[in-house]
Amino acid sequence: MVEEKDLLKKRFPEFERYGAKLERALDAATSGSVKEARFFPSGRTVITVVGRLGDEFIDPDRPYCSCSNFFFRVMSGKEDTCYHLLGHKIAAKTGKVDVTEFADEEYGAYLSAAVRDIFGVLRRSGG
Ligand SMILES: [Zn+2]
Repeated sequence: MVEEKDLLKKRFPEFERYGAKLERALDAATSGSVKEARFFPSGRTVITVVGRLGDEFIDPDRPYCSCSNFFFRVMSGKEDTCYHLLGHKIAAKTGKVDVTEFADEEYGAYLSAAVRDIFGVLRRSGG
């Protein structure tokens, strides 16, 4: 996996400035931790990133991430992204997003399970 990360680093020199955050983002992108649930026929999607402290919801279009790093540091303007969003960006550009398709009828059950995973654990700072 080290070689793959090095190759990706060369491919995205503009992300080099993120340092340790880029390392985590590359780990997430190369380990299949960036997951997209795609619902049909509506076409709506739910994107999660499996992180060190549990799963996080992200919305790359807004952008938004449910992690505390995003809440405390990105929303306050101290940083411009968290490693989950960066990991998704890399995964999306390299075809590494783990996509699973569901029927719309499963949306409610999927969401409540995901919310349990994400918000059911005691939140700690990090990211
Ligand atoms: Zn995040």
